[in-house]
Amino acid sequence: MGKKHVFNAGPCLLPQVAIDNTIEALKDFKGTGVSLISISHRTKGWDEVMDECRALWKEILGIPEGYEVVFLGGGASLQFLYVAMNYLEHKAGYLETGVWAKKALKEAQGLGNAVALASSADKNYCYIPKGYEIPKDLDYFHITTNNTIYGTEIRTDLDSPVPLIADMSSDILSRRVDVSKYAMIYGGAQKNAGPAGVAFAIIKTDTLGKVSRYLPTMLDYRTHIDKLSMFNTPPVFAIFVMNETLKWLKSIGGIDAIHAIDVKKAETLYAEIDRNGLFTGTAAKEDRSIMNVCFVMSPGHEDLQDEFMKFATERDIVGIKGHRSVGGFRASLYNASTQEDVEALVAAMQEFEKIRG
Ligand SMILES: *Cc1c(COP(=O)(O)O)cnc(C)c1O
Repeated sequence: MGKKHVFNAGPCLLPQVAIDNTIEALKDFKGTGVSLISISHRTKGWDEVMDECRALWKEILGIPEGYEVVFLGGGASLQFLYVAMNYLEHKAGYLETGVWAKKALKEAQGLGNAVALASSADKNYCYIPKGYEIPKDLDYFHITTNNTIYGTEIRTDLDSPVPLIADMSSDILSRRVDVSKYAMIYGGAQKNAGPAGVAFAIIKTDTLGKVSRYLPTMLDYRTHIDKLSMFNTPPVFAIFVMNETLKWLKSIGGIDAIHAIDVKKAETLYAEIDRNGLFTGTAAKEDRSIMNVCFVMSPGHEDLQDEFMKFATERDIVGIKGHRSVGGFRASLYNASTQEDVEALVAAMQEFEKIRG
C-alpha cells in the first residue's frame, strides 16, 4: 500500500511516532506486562502519564498560573453544555460563525438567556463578523476560533470586556495563544491534539463557582479540577495517545516551530488556489484558516468536480471532499500533515490544469 496524503477534517492524522509508541503500550504498558487498555487507572505508571500530559499542555501553550487543564469525555459537543452550566447566570453572547457555534449557542439557550451578537449566516459563514459590540453586562462571550467546515479562523486573541470563552477544537496547538485573555478554552482532541475520545478544557479557576444553579457532579468543572481528571475512569487510551502527540510536538520545537510549518503549508495551498484558474477559495481572504482550506471548482468548471476528486484519489490523496454544507473540497492541514503532503495536492491541481484548464 503506497503512502497516503491524508487531509481528513477529523479525526486527524497523528504523528507516526505517537502511533508506534501507542502500539507498544497496547502490548505492554511500561514493562508491567499488562496492556494500556487493561491497566488500572489507579496504578502509579498511569499517574505519570496524566501528570506529564497536563504539564505538556501547560508548557507548550504557555498556560499561566491560575489555570488548570482537565480531560473529559463527551467531546467538544458536551463542552457546549458544560460552558453554559458553569458560566451562564444572567446573559451570554455568542459569535455565530458556523454550525458548531450555533450548536454551542443552542445548549446555552436551553439553560437561560443567550444571544448571537453577530452572525455570518447571510453568506454561509464564509467570513468572520466584525464591528459588533460586546455588552459589558454579559456573563461571558463565546467564540469558535476556527470554523472547521467553512475554513475561516479568528487568528488573533480578541479583546473582550467580559470573560472570553473559546471553542478551539480545530486550531488548538497551531499558533501561540495568549491564554490570559480567556476565561476558558476547550475542544475535542481529535482535530489537532490527539485521537477521538477525549476533550480538553483549560480553565481559569477563579472564574468558576459564580452560578446559582445546581451543578450535577460530573458537569461541574471543579469536580474534575479537584480530582485531577480522575473523578471517574478517564479515557486512558485517548489520553495516552494525546500525551504521545504532545511529546512529539515538543520534540520538533513546540508551538512556534509548528506554527511556522502550518503557515507555510497553508500559504502553499492558498497560493495555488489563487493562481490556478480551475479552483476558487470559498472563505474571505482576510479570514482564511491555516487548518482547513476550503475551495471549489471555479465558475464554468463546476462539472469537473468529480473528475478532479478521482484524479486526486489516484494520486493517493485522501479526505479532500468538502463538507456537504459547503461542497467542493476541503484540505485539512493539521499539525501531523507535512509540506510534502501539501505539495502532492498542489502537483495534482497543476497536472489537472494542464489536461483540463
Ligand atoms: C468537530 C468540532 C466540534 C465537535 O467536536 P466533538 O468532539 O465531535 O463533539 C466542535 N467544535 C468545532 C470547532 C469542531 O471542529
